[in-house]
Amino acid sequence: MFNQYIQVTRSSMPNFEEYIEEIRELWGSHWLTNMGVKHQRLEEELIKYLEVPNAALFTNGHLALECAIAAMNLAGEVITTPFTFISTTHAIVRNGLTPVFCDIDPKTYTIDVNKLESLITEKTSAIVPVHVYGNVCDVNAIEEIAKKYNLKVIYDAAHAFGATVNGRGIATYGDASMFSFHATKVFNTIEGGAITYNDSKLTKVLNELKNFGITGQESVEYIAGNAKMNEFQAAMGICNLRHVDEEIQKRKVVVDRYNERLSGVNGIKLSKTREGIKSNYAYYPVVFDGYKLSRDEVTELLKSENIYARKYFYPLTNEFECYKNKFDCGQTPIAKYISDRVLTLPLYADLSLEDVDTICDIILR
Ligand SMILES: *Cc1c(COP(=O)(O)O)cnc(C)c1O
Repeated sequence: MFNQYIQVTRSSMPNFEEYIEEIRELWGSHWLTNMGVKHQRLEEELIKYLEVPNAALFTNGHLALECAIAAMNLAGEVITTPFTFISTTHAIVRNGLTPVFCDIDPKTYTIDVNKLESLITEKTSAIVPVHVYGNVCDVNAIEEIAKKYNLKVIYDAAHAFGATVNGRGIATYGDASMFSFHATKVFNTIEGGAITYNDSKLTKVLNELKNFGITGQESVEYIAGNAKMNEFQAAMGICNLRHVDEEIQKRKVVVDRYNERLSGVNGIKLSKTREGIKSNYAYYPVVFDGYKLSRDEVTELLKSENIYARKYFYPLTNEFECYKNKFDCGQTPIAKYISDRVLTLPLYADLSLEDVDTICDIILR
């Protein structure tokens, strides 16, 4: 029995002095939010790191996604996947749009591009795919379909910070990508998020959407909420960004060990990334399908040893109370199948290989 708990994740933090140094000047300026110096600096650094033309920071990833969708002036239906965090579906619905759920690919758990086209109607205005677990979607196929039908593409890239496709940054695909900088993500600003986007004409509207729709000192041209990132969040981001490559490298070591221990085991299915993808090792999903223990039994067994894995994503978003009378998870059978069997194992940069071995020993015992 572990004396300590092992949680599914643990937030990355810079050392204390580094953060204190970063926020020191705020005691001189008394400028704590509303696009101050830290905010500007983090935005510039993220543009460089993610190799994108534009980025806008937000107080969290969810509001970033809501604002990105709002900025595109969409109507009607949006094709998306139910195999995601509830935020993705909420962001579509809270914009007054109708989600249309597409099933997922059984290997990568991302949206199945072979089923996408059959869901397009004259009401479809956009696609919101999700780079689940940092597994990158089939971005080229999605781009082709979007071009053919003149649809906007907004990626939920909450899991995919730092991932690349054949050396090209993940954020350069589609019209926009949302990143979450929540404490549990690979890169965090405590709470936080960003939209990266190609068309610089969106800058003005994204900045207004996160600031009540204020368009000038004495003008408010439309109705919007408040989603600004503050200086303390941005300072945390500036510090964490200095170490993120090292953190991703440490995650890789943990993932390699899990793969070594769990690959080739009958009834245990590991997640596959597409050719040419550099992963950020955000999550370690395992599908128990025909294993001697069910997913729920493995979860309980680990819990009895103070190890907390997570049934992520379970239930599907189209199964939750707020959506289940409107949607039918039977229409996305592969997503349903994976969701009933998947477990994400503990994974963070400082997880020791001894702990990984203990977790695998318990599962394989
Ligand atoms: C974390 C997450 C979000 C929401 O981001 P927050 O920063 O927590 O608001 C949205 N979608 C997915 C897939 C996520 O994992």
